[in-house]
Amino acid sequence: MWSPRPECGLVGLRTVESEAMIGERPREPLVLRGIGASWAAVRHWSFAHLASLAPSLPVELVVGNREIGRTRFASSTLGDYLCELASPPVDGAPPRYLKEFELLSHFPHLRRDLRPDLLFPRRSIVASSAWIGPAQARTGLHCDRLDNIAMLVAGRKRFHLAPPDALRSPDDLSGKYDRWATLARISFQDLAARDDAVPLQVVDLLPGDALFVPAGWWHEVVNLEASILLSGFFGSRRRVIGQWLRTGAVHATHVAGLWRRGHCTCHG
Ligand SMILES: [Zn+2]
Repeated sequence: MWSPRPECGLVGLRTVESEAMIGERPREPLVLRGIGASWAAVRHWSFAHLASLAPSLPVELVVGNREIGRTRFASSTLGDYLCELASPPVDGAPPRYLKEFELLSHFPHLRRDLRPDLLFPRRSIVASSAWIGPAQARTGLHCDRLDNIAMLVAGRKRFHLAPPDALRSPDDLSGKYDRWATLARISFQDLAARDDAVPLQVVDLLPGDALFVPAGWWHEVVNLEASILLSGFFGSRRRVIGQWLRTGAVHATHVAGLWRRGHCTCHG
């Protein structure tokens, strides 16, 4: 369970009992505490189980905090990486993080272990991916272009959250390119240290907990323990396709090497 830390000006998150709240597209983050506790995924998935599905599957790992630092990648296999997670971390080495892994595309039968109908509004388009990493693996402060529901399957994870107007100065924003997010130049810790900081929030997720993060809300995420998270960016067909079209032209320019190539989260 999380606890507010008044010294940082942190306040609590609203917890709701029913996923029906998400259908109203609330303007603030919401915790769905324990909503997936009985799902087969939460009861049965483990690093060893996932590794056994395709041990030699090549995977690309993100090394360190690419949102605020340099973008670096490393290659591994699913089996080797998940075995690595079960071992003690190497002192001083930046965490290696399997991010945006298309787990359900690789292993469609795993969908049977989930109940997305309990999380996402009907007729939503949902883009799912998994985030699998060791303790201390983190994602730097950023905000996404689409609403998101994150469901923790295993481990323990902390979300720091701040409202859209928390970063008021252009100097706070990073020029680093990410198709689906705006990145901050500062950390959540920097933000919390400001005298004029807006109310900030923190929540720890345990297995079976889900968190709704509205588009535009700043968040920084750190693994308190080695964790498996399923993330679903979602929205109406009109909203998702609109974002896809709006970002597509810029992204094509980026991939062609004409816009912020080398200053991005997608190329090392
Ligand atoms: Zn790139």
